[in-house]
Amino acid sequence: MNYHVLTLFPEMIENCIETSITGRAINKGIISFEAVNIRDYATNRHKHVDDYPYGGGAGMVMQVEPIHLACNAIKEKAGANTRVIYLTPQGRVFNQSIAKELAKEEELIFLCGHYEGVDERVIEMDVTDCISIGDYVLTGGELAAMVVIDAVSRMVPGVLSNEDSGVNESFENNLLEYPQYTRPEIYEGYKVPDILLSGHHANIEKWRREQSIYRTLKYRPDLLDEAVLDKKDKKYLENIKISLHSQD
Ligand code: SAM
Repeated sequence: MNYHVLTLFPEMIENCIETSITGRAINKGIISFEAVNIRDYATNRHKHVDDYPYGGGAGMVMQVEPIHLACNAIKEKAGANTRVIYLTPQGRVFNQSIAKELAKEEELIFLCGHYEGVDERVIEMDVTDCISIGDYVLTGGELAAMVVIDAVSRMVPGVLSNEDSGVNESFENNLLEYPQYTRPEIYEGYKVPDILLSGHHANIEKWRREQSIYRTLKYRPDLLDEAVLDKKDKKYLENIKISLHSQD
């Protein structure tokens, strides 16, 4: 997977991606990235990349030309059909299934906006996907690009070692993950559930499954609509709904 990030602040991307698991994946040659400074493609003497909005109003708008030239330069290496993802609060809200979908690509171009965003013609000419990381407004697209890159990288084969395996994580089958514990067994009176110390694998699996369903109902009931549940799961869900209801 090769990431190409168009940005006015390359160091934000470099500092972030070279750390921890993505940094290790870069060292192993499983992923690679380039942070491309959009300013390098400005054709004016002062290297300006933004201007006042037509029609008036507050703020500045990133100009079409430097972004278009930068995109073309990257596509010459990465391929003309490479997806160009503009991070924007107006895009499709990012989630795990989009991460999985993007992880199938070999090259991805990310465009980070700033100020009031980019000239709309960039979106018409160059952008294939608009992605938001949530219903709030950031100052720039770099943090959003890193959120997407981090989640996508975890889906790229070889990036996660066995120790940080992505199996059974939250959002697999539209359920949240069960609670996790590690040593010590008791900390300041707070105990690890006995079942996890029992060594009885079938019972532990059952407990974890039920905890997943319970947590999803408690924190993200919206996910349950699409969750794949068998007969036992459904029965358990009905029972906890009744018991939660009776506590109200
Ligand atoms: N004027 C724009 C609007 O109201 O839709 C917001 C521009 S925002 C201040 C500047 C840049 O931050 C955007 O161009 C985008 O790249 C990035 N950004 C802000 N919020 C974001 C979000 N929720 N998801 C992804 N990118 C975001």
